[in-house]
Amino acid sequence: MKHAIHTKNPYSGQSLDQYKYHTTSDINTILEHAQKAFNNWKTTDIKHRTKLLKNVANILEDKKEEFGQLMTREMGKPISQSIAEIEKCAKLCDFYIANADKFLSDQIIKTEAHESFISYDPLGTILSVMPWNYPFWQVFRFAIPTLTAGNVGLLKHASNSTGTAIAIQKLFLDAGYPEGCFQTLVINHEDMDAIIGNDIVKAITLTGSEKAGKSIATLAGQNLKKTVLELGGNNACVVLDDANLDKYLDTMVTARMQNNGQSCIAAKRFIVTEKIYDSFLEQFTQKVKDLKIGDPEDTDTYISVMAREDLAKELETQVSKSIKKGATVHYGNSRDGAFYQPTIITNVKPDMPLFDEETFGPVAAVIKAKDKKEALELAKNSRFGLGTMIFTENIKAIYDEISDIPDGALFINDMVKSDPRLPFGGTKASGYGRELSKEGILEFVNIKTVYINK
Ligand code: NAP
Repeated sequence: MKHAIHTKNPYSGQSLDQYKYHTTSDINTILEHAQKAFNNWKTTDIKHRTKLLKNVANILEDKKEEFGQLMTREMGKPISQSIAEIEKCAKLCDFYIANADKFLSDQIIKTEAHESFISYDPLGTILSVMPWNYPFWQVFRFAIPTLTAGNVGLLKHASNSTGTAIAIQKLFLDAGYPEGCFQTLVINHEDMDAIIGNDIVKAITLTGSEKAGKSIATLAGQNLKKTVLELGGNNACVVLDDANLDKYLDTMVTARMQNNGQSCIAAKRFIVTEKIYDSFLEQFTQKVKDLKIGDPEDTDTYISVMAREDLAKELETQVSKSIKKGATVHYGNSRDGAFYQPTIITNVKPDMPLFDEETFGPVAAVIKAKDKKEALELAKNSRFGLGTMIFTENIKAIYDEISDIPDGALFINDMVKSDPRLPFGGTKASGYGRELSKEGILEFVNIKTVYINK
């Protein structure tokens, strides 16, 4: 069994740091600290909690370059995208500063009682298991609403983002949160059983792969503890005959290629109707060719390495298997270590990994559809349900389709994206539960009915 996590820069290959795993005794101490912190934190006034949120936002702003560089070194995200991620975390704080009080206030419900209302009480210690792809944003969209609701948080971050996890723990302390309110666990998967089984942990949220989701949900189920699961996706980007390519092609390229293609809500299947197919493919290809490839620490780099070489190899296998089944390389498709060239694969069909599975890297699968009806059928043909995007000028006709799209999000003439004001989450193999907005802050509270007769 390994005794420490070694982090490595995926671009330079250089070793970054090493972190000793917490022992069983360390883990028990962390859990006890969490419980102790909760006993006081739950009694604090919402005004105090939102004041601390302002401190968090200020630290994020002040240190965005430093935090951005840490992320970039650990997982290869181009630096300008890393800094933008930190800025987005600060905006998330602003949203809950403005709205948390309203979301968490008692809600009066008129009944025959003298008084009846709903109160929203914190649950206690919430465990989060997080991925490396948005190493700050994923943690913040859990931690900010969850702590503001009066809970305390534990973070088990992706191993390759351990430096980031420790920086986030320090950030909360620097912002004035009490000791134990937000703690990082440096642990093995095998430790999860005892942690989830411990009475101090009241609920678990995981953002990650389907496999990890099943494993954590099984442990949580055995202990009858609530879970929120934000898992993978293979979002369709439907391009209809009347799509405005001049206006929206850049958005479509970003939808696939940002973060080196490693986004759960990326456009993974471009489903394009026959009439517009040739002009879409020509213009899309040109834009992909123009993407600036380079060192992730250079501010003008748009595409760099993937987070780890094994992930790039996995993507290569999905592409090769699809080619064996009849898909065609239209552009790109070379790999060098953790670097995967931006790639476009055509003739993709159901039953190929590029259609059926999640592809986590800069590979766009292009599928030709006869017409709108077939395009939407293909879009819905997925085990996943994070989101669908449709590009069309006929907005009126789209209203009829809304209830038929079985996903957590539908974006028309835009890419699927997260926004603190809107709920975020999936259906089917993409998981369940919601983050962000009012729905997100209410995931980890006891929605308590209070009924008073006189
Ligand atoms: P991953 O391999 O599933 O890992 C996610 C987290 O789960 C990591 O902290 C990982 O720890 C941990 N983990 C994995 N298996 C575990 C187990 N059996 N027991 C306990 N912990 C376990 O996913 P990833 O490669 O980091 O992230 C990419 C995936 O996340 C993609 O599928 C992507 O779509 C999904 N994602 C979804 C959303 C969403 O909102 N729906 C957002 C972002 C990403 P280690 O690193 O130590 O293995």
